[in-house]
Amino acid sequence: MSGFQTPASPRRRFHKRSMTGFTPTEIKAIDQSIPIKAREAWTRYAVKEFATPDDLESLFINHVETTLARSMYNCDNLAAYSALSSSIRDKLILHWNKTQQLHTLREAKRIYYLSLEFLMGRALDNAMINLGIKELCGKSVDELGFNLEDVIDIEPDAGLGNGGLGRLAACFVDSLSTCNYPGWGYGLRYNYGIFSQKIVDGYQVEAPDYWLKYGNPWEIPRLEIQIPVDFYGYVTTVTDPKTGKAKKQWQGGEQVLAVAYDFPVPGYHTTNVNNLRLWSSKPTSEFDFQKFNEGEYDSSVQQQQRAESITAVLYPNDNFYQGKELRLKQQYFWVAASLHDIVRRFLKTKKKWSEFPDLVAIQLNDTHPTLAIVELQRILVDLEGLEWDDAWDIVTRTFGYTNHTVMQEALEKWPLELFGNLLPRHLEIIYLINMDFLKTVSKKFPQDRELVRNVSIIEESDPKNIRMANLAVIGSHKVNGVAELHSELIKTTIFKDFVKVFGPEKFTNVTNGITPRRWLKQANPELTDLIVSKLGSDLFLVDTVRMKQIEKFVGDPEFRKSWALIKLHNKERLAKLIKKLTGVVVNPHNLFDIQVKRIHEYKRQQLNIFGIIWRYLQIKATPAGERAKKFMPKVSILGGKAAPGYYAAKKIIKLINSVADVINNDKDVGDLLKVVFVPDYNVSKAEVICPASDISEHISTAGTEASGTSNMKFVLNGGLIIGTVDGANVEITREVGEDQIFLFGNLAEDVEELRQDHQMGKIDIPDSLALVFEEIEKGTFGPYDEYRSLIESVKYNGDFYLVSDDFESYLEAQSTIDKEFKDQDNWVRKSIICVANMGFFSSDRAIQEYAENIWNIEPVSEQV
Ligand SMILES: *Cc1c(COP(=O)(O)O)cnc(C)c1O
Repeated sequence: MSGFQTPASPRRRFHKRSMTGFTPTEIKAIDQSIPIKAREAWTRYAVKEFATPDDLESLFINHVETTLARSMYNCDNLAAYSALSSSIRDKLILHWNKTQQLHTLREAKRIYYLSLEFLMGRALDNAMINLGIKELCGKSVDELGFNLEDVIDIEPDAGLGNGGLGRLAACFVDSLSTCNYPGWGYGLRYNYGIFSQKIVDGYQVEAPDYWLKYGNPWEIPRLEIQIPVDFYGYVTTVTDPKTGKAKKQWQGGEQVLAVAYDFPVPGYHTTNVNNLRLWSSKPTSEFDFQKFNEGEYDSSVQQQQRAESITAVLYPNDNFYQGKELRLKQQYFWVAASLHDIVRRFLKTKKKWSEFPDLVAIQLNDTHPTLAIVELQRILVDLEGLEWDDAWDIVTRTFGYTNHTVMQEALEKWPLELFGNLLPRHLEIIYLINMDFLKTVSKKFPQDRELVRNVSIIEESDPKNIRMANLAVIGSHKVNGVAELHSELIKTTIFKDFVKVFGPEKFTNVTNGITPRRWLKQANPELTDLIVSKLGSDLFLVDTVRMKQIEKFVGDPEFRKSWALIKLHNKERLAKLIKKLTGVVVNPHNLFDIQVKRIHEYKRQQLNIFGIIWRYLQIKATPAGERAKKFMPKVSILGGKAAPGYYAAKKIIKLINSVADVINNDKDVGDLLKVVFVPDYNVSKAEVICPASDISEHISTAGTEASGTSNMKFVLNGGLIIGTVDGANVEITREVGEDQIFLFGNLAEDVEELRQDHQMGKIDIPDSLALVFEEIEKGTFGPYDEYRSLIESVKYNGDFYLVSDDFESYLEAQSTIDKEFKDQDNWVRKSIICVANMGFFSSDRAIQEYAENIWNIEPVSEQV
C-alpha cells in the first residue's frame, strides 16, 4: 500500500483502476507520465473477461480457492454462490470502469437519483440475465457439481426499502443502465434492511434482517472515499480573507465519516454499467481520542457507536412520517456525502459554477432528500463564495422533485427546534430562502394572506414545523407526480397554491414503470420464451411496445393452450412455495386471487378479508349439493409487512390469519375456498407470486394510492386485476381496455364528501357487511376484542377509508370475476390482450420521459 499514498505522484494515479473522474486533458497528462515499459506491461496483461464455460470454471475455482480460501471438498452452495457472484462481479467491474471512463471523457451530463430506499432484491440472477450469460453460467455450475437454481436461491434479498418507492428506485437504475443514460443512484447502506416477518399464532413478529451476514460479493468497498459530515454546533460570522466581506461559517459539534460502497448496475443488451453508491457511517478516528487516553473507554466507545448507528437500520415505515432525530440525521448524512461527491466530480472538469446544471441533474425521490437543496445552496454561498441569487439560480436549475403521496400523515414536517439544533446553518438558509420566496409571492398576491401562509416553508403552528414538501417545490424546477390521476390531484390539493404562484407548467406527470427484465424475463422465463418464439427476438424486452404484436395470436388455439399451461406452471410453482412456507396445500387449478403489498388501511386489505368472510358465509349457507355450481373454487392469497408500530395494520394481519385458520380447517368448505397469508413478502417472493395470479387486488380508497407498481407486475404477467379507479389502474385500463379489468367503488372526486357525511354521523353499513361484522363479533375467528378496533373504525369512527361505501360494489365485481373465470378460454384471451398492451409501463419509458422533460440528458454509448 505504501507507495500508493503520495497524493501528487503520477504512479499513484496510474495505479487507480480506472480513469474515473479525470478530464480528457488530465488523462492525456497522466498517460504521458506513465513509463513506456509499464504501459506495455499493462497492455500485455490486460484483464480478459470470461467468455466461455471453460473461462468461467477456471475463474470460479480461482475464487473458491483464493478469495474464499476453500477447496473442492468444502465448497457448498453458499461458497458456490459467492464464487459465481465474484466471477460475474469481475466482469461487471471491467464494464463499469469502461462506462465511467466514457462518461467522463464525453463530459456527459449525469443524473443523480437520490433515494433513501433501493429495494434491489437479489443481484445474481439479474446480473446473469442482463449480461446475457445465464445459460453459460448454468453449464459451468453444472460441470462443477451444482444446480444453478439452488445457487441463486442462496442469495439474501437486498431489502434496503419498504415497498413501492424503494422498488421504483431499483427499477429506475436498471432502466438508466439499459437505456445508456449516465446516471448514478445515491442511497444508504443499511446494515439491517427491512425486517423479516414471521407469523406466530397469527401475529406478525419482526426479526432483524442482517443481510450482510456472509459478506456481499456485489459491493465494492471504496474505503479510500471517506467524507466527513458534521452535525450540531453553531454558526459564526467570519471575514472572508479574499473579499473582506463578512460571511457565515458553520462550526459542527459532532463529526462522522461517510464511506462509499459501490454496486455496479448492469444494463440489458448493453455493456453500460452504472453505479449505485451507498454510504456507510463510521466514526472519525480522532474523535474523543483524549477521553480514550484518559481512561474513559466507555464514553469513547459510545461515541463510536453513535456514529455507526446512523446507517444501522432502515426505518420500516411505508407512507408514514415519524419525526425521529436519527432519521433526520440519516437524511443529512446521506445528502451531505452525496453532494460532496457530486461537487467534487464537477470541480474536476474545471468548469464555471454557472455550468453546474449543464453537467448535473439531481432527482429527489420524495421529500426525504430535500435537504440537498439547502446543502447545495450552503456549499455555493458559504464555501464557494457565490452570490446568494446566483447560487439559488444554480440550485433550482439542478433539482427535480417527485411527489409520492397526498396523504397528510405521510408528509414530512420537522419540528423547528429539533432541526435547528442538528443543522443550525441549514435552518438559517431555509429562513432566507423562505423570506425571498414569500416576498415575491406577497408582491404578486398582496391581498392573499392565506395563500402566503399555505406556501410558506414554515408552518406557523405551535410548535413550528418545516414543511419539506414546500421546500422541495420551491427549490426544484420541476415537480412530478407518479400517475396521471395523482399528478392532477397534487395540483388541486397539497400544491394548489403553488400552481397559482408558479403556474401549472412547473407540475408534470411521469407515470411509474417496472423493468421488464426482472418482472418478465427473470420472474417468468416460460412466458418470455413463448413471446420470443412468436416475435422472433427478445427485443420486446427493451422496446416493450413490440409486445403489442402478440395480440394477433389471440385467435390461435395452440398459442392460447401454451399460454394457459404456462400460467398453470407458475401457479404450481407458487403452490409449492406456499406449502413450504405455511404447510397449506392449495389446488393450482383453482382461481388464484392475490393481494400482496405493504399492509396499510388505505390499501384496504380489510375490504379483501371482509369479502373472504362474506364468501365463506355464502358457501356455508348454500346446500352442499348446489355449491359446486354456484361458487368458483378459489385460493385467496395475501401477504405484506405492517410497520412494527402500526396497530391497525397488525390487527388486519391477525384477522387474515385467524380467518385462514377457520376456513382452511372447515372440512365442509374443502377446496372451494382456501386462504393463505404468505409470510415475509419481499422482492424474491414477488418474483414467484406475480406470475401466478389469475386476479390480483389493487383496491385502495380512490385518491390515496399515488400509482402502485405491483398492479403493473401482475398484468405484465398475464393476470387480470380487480381495482378501484386509483393511481395507475386508470392508465392500465386505458391501455388494456375496460373489458380486461374489474373496476369498482367510489371515485376520488367523491371521497371528500363521503368522508364529511361520515363525520356528520351518516354511515350506512350494507347488510352484507353487517353480516360479516356479526360473524366477527360472535367470535368465530377468536375473541372479538382482538378485532373490535377494526370494526369500530368503520361503524363508529368515520370509516375514513370508505370500506362501508365500497363493500357492495366490491362484492359485485368479485361475483363478475367468478362468472367470467368459468369461461377459461375467454379468460386466456383477456390475459393475452393484457400482456400485449402493457408496453407503456416499462420503466424504460418512464426514464426516457424524465430524461427528456426534466433532466435534459442524453444517452451515451460506445458507438459514436
Ligand atoms: C412492487 C413491490 C411493491 C409495491 O407494491 P404496490 O402494490 O404497488 O404497493 C412492494 N413490495 C415489493 C416487494 C414489491 O416488489
